[in-house]
Amino acid sequence: SKLVKNSSQESLASELSSLDRKHLLHPSTNPKSQTQFGPKIIFSGGEGIHLHDMKGNTYIDGVSMLWNVNLGHGQKELADASYQQMSNIAYASTFYGYANEPTVRLAEKIASLTPGDLNTIFFTSGGSESNDTAFKLSRFYWQLQGYTEKRKIISLRRGYHGVTVAAQRATGIDAYRNFSGSTDPDIDNAKAHLTDCELGDKSHPEYEGSIRSIIEKEGKDKIAAVIVEPIQGAGGVHMPPEGYLKAVRKLCDEFDIHLIADEVICGFGRTGKMFGVDHWGIVPDFMSVAKGITSGYAQLGGVIMREHIRDTIAEYDDMLAHGFTYSGHPTACAVGLKNIEIVERDGLVENANLMGQALEKGLHHLEDKYPFLTKGRTKGLLAGFDLMEDPEANAPFDNSVKAATTLVEECYQRGLLIRPFDFEPGMNIVAIAPPLIINKDQMEKIIHILDDSLAAFSQKL
Ligand code: PMP
Repeated sequence: SKLVKNSSQESLASELSSLDRKHLLHPSTNPKSQTQFGPKIIFSGGEGIHLHDMKGNTYIDGVSMLWNVNLGHGQKELADASYQQMSNIAYASTFYGYANEPTVRLAEKIASLTPGDLNTIFFTSGGSESNDTAFKLSRFYWQLQGYTEKRKIISLRRGYHGVTVAAQRATGIDAYRNFSGSTDPDIDNAKAHLTDCELGDKSHPEYEGSIRSIIEKEGKDKIAAVIVEPIQGAGGVHMPPEGYLKAVRKLCDEFDIHLIADEVICGFGRTGKMFGVDHWGIVPDFMSVAKGITSGYAQLGGVIMREHIRDTIAEYDDMLAHGFTYSGHPTACAVGLKNIEIVERDGLVENANLMGQALEKGLHHLEDKYPFLTKGRTKGLLAGFDLMEDPEANAPFDNSVKAATTLVEECYQRGLLIRPFDFEPGMNIVAIAPPLIINKDQMEKIIHILDDSLAAFSQKL
């Protein structure tokens, strides 16, 4: 009977593969090879940190899919919360002043977790919508204050903020930023460097690319906001230099510019604190969240704003002409509430910290063992490292080696899914961000697979 089951699984997989090739255009995928070869993996199930595919393989989900499945797969309590809310009332609008219980409760719960007076949320369906909303609300605030010219958004090289047109133009990764030639002259600033010259040193060699120099050039009366990820994710897991976020906060205060923290990856425990900014004790004016707010079990995002922003907007006596059909989706919010309840109940922020230390130790060990592995960095369960031909000479691998992709493929062969970043010449970064529920044995398994894969990679060199 096992044989029968296997062959029916196989024929189902091949049916899905040919349907996929014809009918599905995949995001962030090479369409030519997708159409030619079909899906690389067809997932069929998962529990905890593991995923299964239709060929009967099991993988460790080493990046929580898209850094979002923080509670891991097959979490029945989240499924139950969704079922109960759907059975009661799956969807209700929050337009026109309508409300419902899970949406209001989640708004209050999030206010209790955020730093400072970040106490009001505008819900969206994901990260891109949250950032677009943050840009609009920032501009709207300045308009209400009489500053109609304060419109520009400054963002960072290698920052990732999403793919809606405004978020796309704020993204500092060229392939995304330039896709299909969209433009927005007010958000054409993804060029500031992540550099310690924000600390105020004008003789710094990178001063030209600093946020401060852009403000000085453009004029503070033209700039609405600066957007930064507390830790850059999709740009290759880049930690801010010491003192950076505090300095940017100070800079924004000095020039009367909003600070938007994009917490889409960092938020809800990923980095070993509830929010990324909590590591550096700053309070941004807006905070974008998504992903970990529901662990990916429902599509939800939001922009959290400080009280002075809410108070100014609250003076506006006409319709706020912004909103998504799924702003405050009751089922998504019920899942979000349950998700946060579990994160707190099971001490998962603390676990992210502890397991992050184990991951850091493992990466140090691998760095000692493999001279081409360098710049290991971890904050909680958000980690990355570089592969370089000769780190001491700062020499990258030749692009033909495809170092990051090759290593990730070795890991895949051994049942570990992680992610390569090589969108710039000479860049070979690998990211690791497993679910927050991971335990010590599972972390050791990840390090072990990495070790074997690195050995295989080094053999190929
Ligand atoms: N901001 C950050 C920091 C992200 O990592 C992402 C998604 N990877 C987004 C925004 C966009 O979110 P979404 O894909 O949900 O629109």
